[in-house]
Amino acid sequence: MTVWILGDQLTRDVSVLDDADRVLMVEAHAFAERMPYQPQKLTLLFGAMRQFRDELRNERIDVAYYECETFGEGLDAFFDEYPDAELTLQRPSSHGAAERFSSMVEARDGSLTVVDDERFLTSIEFFDDWAEERENASDDGSDTRFRHENFYRHVRRETGILMDGDDPEGGEWNYDDENRETPPDEWNAPDVPRFDPDETTRDVHEWVTDRYDDHWGNPDLDAFVWPVTREQALQALDHFVEVRLSEFGPYQDALLREEWALCHSLLSSSLNLGLLTPREVVDRAVSAYESGDAPLNSVEGFVRQIIGWREFMRHVYRRSMPEMNDANQLDQTHELPELYYSGETEMVCLSEAVGNVHARGYAHHIERLMILSNFALIYGADPHELNRWFHFGFVDAYHWVTTPNVVGMGTFATDALSSKPYASSGNYVNKMSDFCSSCPYAVTKTTGENACPFNALYWDFLKDNEETLRGTGRMGLMYSHVDNKDDEEWNEIRTRAADLRERGAAGEL
Ligand code: FAD
Repeated sequence: MTVWILGDQLTRDVSVLDDADRVLMVEAHAFAERMPYQPQKLTLLFGAMRQFRDELRNERIDVAYYECETFGEGLDAFFDEYPDAELTLQRPSSHGAAERFSSMVEARDGSLTVVDDERFLTSIEFFDDWAEERENASDDGSDTRFRHENFYRHVRRETGILMDGDDPEGGEWNYDDENRETPPDEWNAPDVPRFDPDETTRDVHEWVTDRYDDHWGNPDLDAFVWPVTREQALQALDHFVEVRLSEFGPYQDALLREEWALCHSLLSSSLNLGLLTPREVVDRAVSAYESGDAPLNSVEGFVRQIIGWREFMRHVYRRSMPEMNDANQLDQTHELPELYYSGETEMVCLSEAVGNVHARGYAHHIERLMILSNFALIYGADPHELNRWFHFGFVDAYHWVTTPNVVGMGTFATDALSSKPYASSGNYVNKMSDFCSSCPYAVTKTTGENACPFNALYWDFLKDNEETLRGTGRMGLMYSHVDNKDDEEWNEIRTRAADLRERGAAGEL
């Protein structure tokens, strides 16, 4: 049996590899031209594939590795060499990919068996059984919201992770009220671990920056900080647990100028490539708590991201596609402001966040949610253009994870994930960051020449989407403020918002 390993399936310890006679891997170079993928991302992806190939070969596993333009060309070359081979593939995470690959193999008279993907903690059956139970229970009127928090608690109960018998460890399911601190002025984030690029990474990087020289993002190898091997990913995990985890919790919502990583784990690219498994990452964090090396508020906060949000997103995507791909319940159609591409803006928050994505293909969660997608949301940008922007810009972006986060969580283009949009004015940014004090725009002003663009756009967004949002969960307070504004105030807000959109399109924000 030949196991076909895709670029984001670089996990050695999966049962399908136990019985493999051979491994097939295809680098599809034209595929990487469908979008102007960030050079840091392509260096990571192709670099990690070649490293995985070499590790398998060191174990004396036969790897048929093709560098070609398309998956079709790779399959042609493979079946020319091994006409009788039978292929097995772990279920790809992108919607429809298993079916597409099956037809490509069938068209070459080959056979392809698709098996379960073991790179997540919860199986398809686990989620679907839970979802079915909640759907059935809704008939009797009980609280059955198909929401993350219910799922997260279910995973905790079923796996015993951070449980004390039937109760959550420490008595609470979450410690978010301890996790909204801003670091003191003199605080510096710990250094980010770096891995010296070896010859393989250097070669890939040189080739990527040559072939994809018109792509969006920083081509500089000095900025490359992402693990490309399992060994490096394990080092990154050690570093996180030993150095960053204790402060992860309290500062997880903070935004600081020139601190792009704070105490975030920076593990998403390794998890999404398969270099780390969610279970081992969570076990390490829980052990640190058990040995007294990390506080519960940090460990629970981190565990929730992995066994709650990451798993939930994967399943919601799976169940909401293909509808999610086109969802646009607020009918938002403006082009994404030019600053997302040029990085040029006077707004400090967006300049920092877009700059970080451009530099390394990374921004932390609050930058993604409350700066990058919040601004696009209240500006009225097309959620699918934003999804595409995230997809090509981020090192950890794959359709299965970017789509629910951007289309669902970030832009409320579907209500599959939350009952209200994550929309805010400049007030939130000011509270959680040190950006506004050095910004030429005044966060206290809504209208007038130097008023913070978040403010007028925020009110204008609420007004524009009143029909959909007024009745939605927890929006009542916001609409009481909407109701308190008089016609003159609205006139000024609407004029300012229209002007900001014009400036956004012209790259003049
Ligand atoms: P940490 O803050 O240290 O969190 C730990 C881990 O939890 C992450 O590594 C990640 O694996 C997981 N996680 C946390 N939240 C989520 C979530 N909502 N969905 C999936 N995993 C989660 N994550 C991606 O992996 N790829 C994406 O393309 C992506 N796009 C996003 C777009 C938007 C608009 C938003 C709001 C979030 C997005 N996320 C995405 C989720 C999250 O922001 C990133 O996983 C996280 O910032 C990665 O950095 P980290 O590893 O330092 O994470």
